[in-house]
Amino acid sequence: MNSITTSNYLIHFNTTCYQEINTHLKAVNYSKIFVLVDQNTHEYCLPQFLSNLETDLNIEIIEIEAGEVNKSIETCSGVWNALSELEADRKSLMINLGGGVITDLGGFVASTFKRGISFIQVPTTLLAMVDASIGGKTGVDLGHLKNQIGVINTSEMVLVDTSFLKTLPENQMRSGLAEMLKHGLIYSQDYWNKFTTLEKSHTDDLDELIYESIEIKNSIVEKDPHENNLRKTLNYGHTLGHAIESYYLSNPSKTPLLHGEAIAIGMILATYISTKLTGFSKDECNKIKDTILTIFGQPKISEEDIIPIIDLLKFDKKNEHGKIYFVLLEAYGNSKINCQVENNLILEAFKYYNS
Ligand code: NAD
Ligand code: ZN
Repeated sequence: MNSITTSNYLIHFNTTCYQEINTHLKAVNYSKIFVLVDQNTHEYCLPQFLSNLETDLNIEIIEIEAGEVNKSIETCSGVWNALSELEADRKSLMINLGGGVITDLGGFVASTFKRGISFIQVPTTLLAMVDASIGGKTGVDLGHLKNQIGVINTSEMVLVDTSFLKTLPENQMRSGLAEMLKHGLIYSQDYWNKFTTLEKSHTDDLDELIYESIEIKNSIVEKDPHENNLRKTLNYGHTLGHAIESYYLSNPSKTPLLHGEAIAIGMILATYISTKLTGFSKDECNKIKDTILTIFGQPKISEEDIIPIIDLLKFDKKNEHGKIYFVLLEAYGNSKINCQVENNLILEAFKYYNS
């Protein structure tokens, strides 16, 4: 478990990651380093990160406010201005130290400042390690619409130091775990099986699972960089998952669910739908439900919420001509894109989830 090679850059994992960045900083003639953080990664991650960095270069810290609402063009303007005032030039390096909000926004700011400066992704949440920092998608939201503005651009390298996870809250750990579970379902039964004995999210032996999850995401992206087919399977559980996430976010009287928590429910629903449309085994579907619920608990979806959630599917990005399309499972590691699903089957899936 050292480095994962992609066609454009390397993902360095744990033991060698600081050695690799230090060698890189000596080899490349950067003028200055800018580290982008939010208030949490400033407090919990920056001291450790800086103590491992060996460089004579001047380091400036730029802090933004934590949270998805700040993944906006307005925040980008603030960071572009800070870079300009601090005299960043085309040889400057930007290091994005944080969760997916920082790696998405920082990657976009770096890719566009002076038509593009170099950047390095240092993910500090589980979700950013296994998902957001891998694959080159960067960008920001436009109002409430997610990821509307952005570019695909690769970083110089990605450094994954899993010891940052020690300070990550439990619900944020679960959010990342959902994407790892998804990687098992859509790509590898062997990988999925490793979760069937996992009982809680804060385990000490997650490192190997994280490494393999990064390998899976990376190999999917490498095989289909332009999202023509295989990369679309990464949307497994996301059709209903996104609708559930938006519904609870936009109803202040309800307890919001984090992205991964909603995706976990979405995967159970999509797996049930698969048993009806692709012939996926009902026994295996029950086992998948048990495994996910053991890790996540079972946030109930009350009867009154189901129809409004289904209504939200009309905003799904995969819709065409008013029809709703799902990614479904044919077997472990084998999923099918563009599956049309009728509303009554979706209702039945919610009944199964709640049973
Ligand atoms: P986030 O960046 O908001 O981080 C979650 C919270 O954890 C924040 O409050 C953050 O300050 C805090 N935090 C980060 N590291 C910490 C640490 N080590 N200890 C304590 N607290 C810490 O959210 P996220 O879940 O990491 O990322 C979500 C974002 O990722 C979304 O905007 C999503 O669109 C994006 N994303 C992008 C891709 C992609 O391919 N680019 C893929 C998936 C998700
Ligand atoms: Zn996701």
